[in-house]
Amino acid sequence: VFHADNVPQAPEDPLFGLMAAYRKDDFEKKVDLGIGAYRDNNAKPWVLPVVKQADEILRKDPNLNHEYLPIAGLTDFTSAAQKLILGAESPAIKEKRVVTFQTISGTGAVHLGGLFLARFYPRPSNQPIYFSSPTWANHNQIFTNVHLPIKTYPYFSPQTKGLDFEGMRSTIEQAPEGSIMLLHACAHNPTGVDPTRDQWKELAKVIRAKKHFPFFDCAYQGFASGDLENDAWAIRYFVSQGFELCIAQSFAKNFGLYGERAGAFHFVTGAGPDAQNTIGRIASQLAILQRSEISNPPAYGARIASLVLNDPALFKGWEANLRTMAGRIIDMRKALRSKLEELNGKEGSWKHITDQIGMFSFTGLTEKQVLKIREDAHVYMTKNGRISMAGLNTGNVEYTAKAIDKVVR
Ligand code: PLP
Repeated sequence: VFHADNVPQAPEDPLFGLMAAYRKDDFEKKVDLGIGAYRDNNAKPWVLPVVKQADEILRKDPNLNHEYLPIAGLTDFTSAAQKLILGAESPAIKEKRVVTFQTISGTGAVHLGGLFLARFYPRPSNQPIYFSSPTWANHNQIFTNVHLPIKTYPYFSPQTKGLDFEGMRSTIEQAPEGSIMLLHACAHNPTGVDPTRDQWKELAKVIRAKKHFPFFDCAYQGFASGDLENDAWAIRYFVSQGFELCIAQSFAKNFGLYGERAGAFHFVTGAGPDAQNTIGRIASQLAILQRSEISNPPAYGARIASLVLNDPALFKGWEANLRTMAGRIIDMRKALRSKLEELNGKEGSWKHITDQIGMFSFTGLTEKQVLKIREDAHVYMTKNGRISMAGLNTGNVEYTAKAIDKVVR
């Protein structure tokens, strides 16, 4: 018998708690470094100019309606998403070795991939999925929901505040053969630390030798470095090495389409005479999973992204918008580092801030220091010392640096 009153209270999502506390705070100079979305130099949400343009075009279209999209999503969107992540000249696309489903942003893509793997990954051996420790908190929940056994590989070195490459590599090497390896394609969340290209090559070797299955999560293409090709390098390298793999792709950050939930899930098979048949079978199964979960994906965000991705002039405009966002964030990294080093007089002591990339930075601040900064200076960040670079601007970076400097002395 079901007893509703037996349902236990779930713990509060730490990020939502942080946001609520920030909103309640009426201190004038409060700073929000918890936020997982881009803010302009006035701490305001930014609608990309190219998204505004696309929106105007959409609104003028007399044929626009509100019919359902196909189960796999808007075809113009999914084919453009493939080209964006794999490269327009990708042999995998030419050889029709890729299947793409439009999803509920990156979260939905990770989930659809998890659901698919939970169902079709060889059952008796039941290999785990490995992800980095730490990782985006939702990875844990999503893969738990689909009952995949979960393990982690080390990622962040508190000493160097960079990558614990040896820890990561050796754990992947020792993992049971044929495990699933979740990898952040670029701008690792929450650390901001990415492997170098040589390190990616090393990882590919180990993953190949152990017959692991790579699952790339790509939430920051173009947003990380400002260069779409650069941020997709790791994925394209793995594909060029003949790996069978899957990719979760989000358009939340790079288009500023957070609430519109535009994303894609891609499955790439290896080359071979049967590849197209394999893709057909995988597509048929994904269609069943998608149908039972969401029936069909939402239209608006995909229409906007599709217009931009398929029009050369709008695409150019988008690249400029990406450079604006990535450039501002990189400038804030430089400013925060230089202010902190100016205050303590130790050149290089905050180098990790500029070495790290993307929306987030792992400062190395302890939970105690984080709470002290919140209490004393009203600067809000997550307890693991992660700061969102997007929350910094020319008006608050010095204030923030002073607050951080004060607690680390
Ligand atoms: N994966 C990672 C690593 C992320 O950081 C995020 C967003 O923060 C996502 C996936 C998915 O985000 P969304 O569902 O908004 O696309």
